[in-house]
Order: sequence, then structure tokens, then C-alpha cells
Amino acid sequence: MGSRRNFIEKLTVSAVGVPILYHSSNLFAAPEVPYEGPILKVAIMGLGSYGTRVAEAMKDCKRAKLVGVISGTPSKIKDWQSKYGIPKKNCYNYENFDAIKDNADIDAVYVITPNGLHKDQSIRVAKAGKHVICEKPMAINAEEGQAMVDACKAANVKLLIGYRMHYEPKTVEVIKMRKNGEFGKVKFFQGQSGFTIGDPTQWRLDKKLAGGGAMMDIGIYSINGARYMLGEEPIWVTAQETKTDPVKFEEGVDETIQFQLGFPSGAVANCLSTYNMSNLDRFFMTGSDGWVEMKPSTGYGPIKGRTHKGELDQPHITHQTLQMDGMAQLIFEGVQPIVPLDGEEGVKDMKIIDAIYKAVETGDKQNINL
Ligand code: NDP
Repeated sequence: MGSRRNFIEKLTVSAVGVPILYHSSNLFAAPEVPYEGPILKVAIMGLGSYGTRVAEAMKDCKRAKLVGVISGTPSKIKDWQSKYGIPKKNCYNYENFDAIKDNADIDAVYVITPNGLHKDQSIRVAKAGKHVICEKPMAINAEEGQAMVDACKAANVKLLIGYRMHYEPKTVEVIKMRKNGEFGKVKFFQGQSGFTIGDPTQWRLDKKLAGGGAMMDIGIYSINGARYMLGEEPIWVTAQETKTDPVKFEEGVDETIQFQLGFPSGAVANCLSTYNMSNLDRFFMTGSDGWVEMKPSTGYGPIKGRTHKGELDQPHITHQTLQMDGMAQLIFEGVQPIVPLDGEEGVKDMKIIDAIYKAVETGDKQNINL
């Protein structure tokens, strides 16, 4: 099989005369044709670390283009204007951005600010008649998330959450395998999501701006992952918090939480969310007929993974490039990713986070009704 694949790869190269690389699962795919469809014109709100990553990734998008900015820092606006060719008329600050309603150059605003600001900013974007793309966590609790869903519905605009893993090729492959029954009856998921956080003065450790601690920021990957890997919605949760540094992690800012989710099929998930341990980016799932381990599982990639059948060999493509092209396709053509990433999906994760915090506070098992 290996030699046949080599032969076909060589044949492909010599036949067309240029070195086009075909992925093994896609050997006979036609070379790409130039894209001539609609382009999603996006303004980024919040020109921080992740906003910059998204802007860089969007340079390779076919269906989406960065055309505007909303920022509280004039010097960043200037930099971005020259770096990404953004005209002055597409630049806004947090006071005046409601005026985007009169700007036909902008179709959507990608909100990439601290979590505690997402709700109000997203609702203002919706009221300006623009599609909302909002980073995870969509808000700081389910009530806020639902208010965003309602506002976007009322304004007849889309609300999409930045769940980039829903477009990531190895993740998509594992979800397909589970849907095809290749793991048999799935019974157990383990998610470990964490890193050691630095600067104690950053907004991520400020309850008002972050809404919590590690759970809001990184634990949410294990929550969302448990749901898309197992393909079910949890019905109960138990959770335990450990706090070793109450100075750095103030009241309401979680350092480490372990939590367990129960699913209708009887499957269970056991997860860890932390801001105070390193090298934690791993998913494991096992079923009656097979298993998968992904490590790293949700970082910027390349994602690595293996199953009972061998290594996952899908290509690494910059997650945010795939996500933004995918979201454009969703908005223009209604093409959904393998797992939804709309506002309702975001609210489900927020409801689970609310229940986890409640379980920590009370010590009791919490029922979840999604
Ligand atoms: P940063 O601190 O790097 O950037 C946030 C930006 O928000 C700031 O640079 C600033 O931009 C703007 N801002 C507006 N008001 C405030 C305020 N009161 N305090 C601080 N910043 C403010 O954060 P990140 O970019 O890392 O995170 C932003 C969001 O993106 C979060 O919701 C986070 O969870 C999410 N995220 C998602 C990732 C993913 O992989 N999907 C990865 C990393 C983050 P300006 O100066 O332009 O106003």
C-alpha cells in the first residue's frame, strides 16, 4: 500500500509538472480553482494577543478578509492600518463603534476582548446589524450568553463562537470515526486542559473581566471537547476545587478544578482545568471497540493524535484560517461545521460552567438540563 501511494504521488507530480502535494486521503482531488464567491468582510474588536493571531491567519483566508478594527488604543489602530491596509473609515473605538451600522464595508465583527466585555459589545454589534463572531467563553455565565443569543435573533444576525477546534482536521476525523461507530460504544473521556499563568495583574486573573479563572479560559476546552468527542450532552456534574495560591487566585478566580460529567448513555468524563500546572493539553477517549489519544489536543497545533488504528495523519492548517473561511461559508451558504459553533452551542458550555461552579460551591452533584 505504501509503495502504491508513493507511486501515485510521483505520478501526480510528473503528470502536472509542478509539485502539488496531495494528502493521502485525498489523492485524486482536483487542484484548487480560484475562489470567486462572496468575501466576509470582518472587523476585529480588541487588538490583543489573540486578535493579532486571527489577523495574521486571515491573510491566508479565501472567503474572509480583515477590513476594519475596533480598539481602545490609537497606536495599535495606526499599526494595523499600515500592516493590513485598513482604511481610516473602517477604524473605530469602543465609544463610537455603533456607527458601523452605516458602514457597508463591514459584514461581521469578531469580538476578541476580555470575557466580561463580550456580552455588551456583542449586543451592540448585533444592534448595529452586523454578524457577531465572539471568542470563547462567549460570556461569563449562561444568562449573559442567552441575552446575546436573543439579541442576535432579534437583529436577524448570526452569532458564532470562536470554537476553532470544530474545523481542525484531526479533531474532525476523530468525530467522524466516533459517528461511524469505529470506537464502538464510547464509555469514557478524559480531558486535561491547563497551563501555568504568569503576570498576576493580567485581566485573566480579574474576576470582573474574566468571569472566573482557568475554567473560563482553558477548562472550557475540556467541556466542549467532552461534548464533541462523546457526541452527547451531559446530564450531571460533580466538581472539586484546589487552591494553592489564594493571593494570585482571588475569591472567584479558580486555579484548579477537577470535574466529572455524566452522560445519558452512561458514559462519563473526568476532566482537569488549571492555571497552575504545565504540559496539560490532552484528550483521551475509549469505547468498546477502540480508543483515541490526542496530545496536544486543543493548542494552536499541530495537533497530534493516535487511535487503535494508528497515527492521525490529517494535515495541519492554521486553525484560525480554517475557522474564518468556515464561518464565511456558514454565513453565506449555510454550510455547518461537523459540530455547531453558534450562540446556542456557546450557551451550553456556559450552563455547564455555571453548574461546575455551583458544584464546587455546594459540594453537591448538579443536574444539567441542556
Ligand atoms: P489580550 O489581553 O491579549 O487582548 C485583549 C484586548 O482586548 C486588549 O489588547 C485590548 O485591545 C482589548 N481590551 C478592551 N478592554 C480591555 C480591558 N478592560 N482590559 C484588557 N484589554 C481590553 O487577550 P487575548 O487576546 O489573549 O484574549 C481575548 C479573548 O480571546 C478572550 O476572550 C480569550 O478567552 C479569547 N482567546 C481565545 C483563544 C482561542 O484559541 N480561541 C486563544 C486566546 C484567547 P485594544 O487595545 O485594541 O482595545
